[in-house]
This record gives sequence, structure tokens and C-alpha cells, in this order.
Amino acid sequence: MIQDILPHLFNNQFDKEALVCEDDYVFHFRKDALLLRKEGDQLIIPLRKELGVHADAGLFLFSLDGKHCYLLNDCNAPDDSAFTYSEISLFRSLRQQEIAWVSIVAHQLMNWYQANRFCGKCGAAMLPRKDERAISCISCENTVYPKISPAIIVAITCGENILLAKGINFRGGFYSLVAGYADVGESLEEAVIREVKEEVGLDVKNIRYYKSSPWPISGSLMIGFIAEADDQQIITIDPKEISHAAWFSRENLPPHPPASISIAGELIEMFRTGKMSKL
Ligand SMILES: [Zn+2]
Repeated sequence: MIQDILPHLFNNQFDKEALVCEDDYVFHFRKDALLLRKEGDQLIIPLRKELGVHADAGLFLFSLDGKHCYLLNDCNAPDDSAFTYSEISLFRSLRQQEIAWVSIVAHQLMNWYQANRFCGKCGAAMLPRKDERAISCISCENTVYPKISPAIIVAITCGENILLAKGINFRGGFYSLVAGYADVGESLEEAVIREVKEEVGLDVKNIRYYKSSPWPISGSLMIGFIAEADDQQIITIDPKEISHAAWFSRENLPPHPPASISIAGELIEMFRTGKMSKL
């Protein structure tokens, strides 16, 4: 999955003692495009010293391979063809997975900071805290932490078949697993039952937890499950979400996400290689 970047090390701990240093990685966005530096045929995160006097101190984000990473609010990128702004969707095709991963986590935090410049309770200005990853109101002390939305994703099997669905917004005609956000007052298992019923009209049983995966692009935490359904039930799709759903054997899988990116891809690969039945 996208966060599996070994031998590189990602540390999301908020380091309140961090000191600004010339070798910090710095992230600057123009809307949803990230400033990157070209090095040969690779794109890498620029260092503070490479942006010289143009860079401000920035907000501490996290660490990659022991180097601190900062978000720059203002930055005049050097007038140099070595620097480029790339749309964040580039993460799907970057060969350096550690760059892809930190780019989308930084993008999530950038969006969170931007969306919380004013207090939702009293309307006064909000400022990032120095002691933790949080933003506080300068007037009423309302404190906001990063919003993470739990979402279930479920591999539904019946014997030697898996149910895959094509979302109306899926790129490239990909098929994937049924997924959806947990609702207020709902357990994750209840969300699995509800989402499967809503999206493809099936009743599921034997729901088992698999593993979870952060998905910063949508600010989600994907919680993976495996479940079973009787394939004699009639598939009834929700046309607002799904354009087609069907049972597939492992020899006949349609185009689907790669295991290197998402928990959906990993679960489908587990099914394809026969490992899912052993879970
Ligand atoms: Zn306030």
C-alpha cells in the first residue's frame, strides 16, 4: 500500500522542539499542485536551502528519514526549470513511493490548515499551536484537531468468486471493492452491512476485520473487512454510486487497483493469489 515505504521511514510525531534547518524538506502548494525539484528523471521534495531566501519558516508537518518536513505558506519558487508544480494526483505514478506518500499526507494537512483559518464557533482567527498538531481560536480557545473520516472497505466473496463494483467516478474503468463512510452513531460492522446493501443490494455475513490504511487524499482512514454473501442473491446497484457490479473468478478479474497503492488493491491481490481464504 501507498504508506509502505520501507526502507524509508515516515514519522508523523509532531516535534514541538524542531528547529528550522537548511536541510529540511519543504512543501509548498499552489491549489492542489506541489512544488517539486527535478533531479534527472525523478521528482523530489526540495530542501529549504534550495529555495534560499525565498522561503519562510513554515509549519512543522512530520519527518521523513529523520529530516523535518515543513509546510510553507508563502514561497516564491526559484525561476529555474529544475522546479515544477505538479498536480497531487501525480502520486499514483511516482516511482519513489516515499515521495508519493509524504506528498499526499502534506496535502491533507495543508487542506486542514486552510479550512480552519477561522473559528467555527465564534468566527475569530485560528492559529496553529506550537505544542501539538492542532489549531486554536485566539478568542474562545476552541481547539481543532485534524479531521479523519473512518470509511469501511469490504472484500465480499462467495466460494471462488469475489464481488467487484465499478464506481461511477472510478478512473480508467477500474473495478474495486464496496466502500463507504461510517455514519454517525454506527459501528464499523453496521457500516459494512449498510453500505453493501445500499450499493449492490446484497446481505453479507461472517464479517471479519482485515487491516486499516490511511488514505490522505480524501482525509479518510480505510478500515478493511472481508465478508461473505450468497451469490444467488440479486445484485441491485445504486446508480448514483455504482455503474456495474458482478461476481468475478480469480482467473477472470477486470482491471483493478494495484496492491502497491491501496488496501482495495491489496485485498483483491490476496483473493487472486488464494491467500484470502486462509485469513
Ligand atoms: Zn472561537
